[in-house]
Amino acid sequence: MIEDVFCKIIAGEIPGEEVYRDDEVVVIKDIHPQAPVHLLVMPVKHVAGIEELAEHDGHLLGKLVATAHRVAAAQGLVKGYRLIINEGEHGGKLVPHLHVHLLGGKALGPKIVAE
Ligand SMILES: [Zn+2]
Repeated sequence: MIEDVFCKIIAGEIPGEEVYRDDEVVVIKDIHPQAPVHLLVMPVKHVAGIEELAEHDGHLLGKLVATAHRVAAAQGLVKGYRLIINEGEHGGKLVPHLHVHLLGGKALGPKIVAE
């Protein structure tokens, strides 16, 4: 039984603020937003990380990005947005359920990592 927090939100066991859902992809608000718009785009089914999809389900990996783009447009991010996937220990992954951070609503600048 997989017990990560995103699976629980997707199952409705704990609250989450959903902004989009279809059969394969769900988008929720990050509870600690780091930009005016900070959403998490993730598979509905439990997927631990990129490797799982890179090997077996490129369709879903592509759909996460395509969905992020459509949701960004729906959120009015006409000037752009940033997508980030934190993978593994050095990538800073905190929840073991693949998710794409969608950030926008202000100029984020070219730097991705603070010095
Ligand atoms: Zn999960």
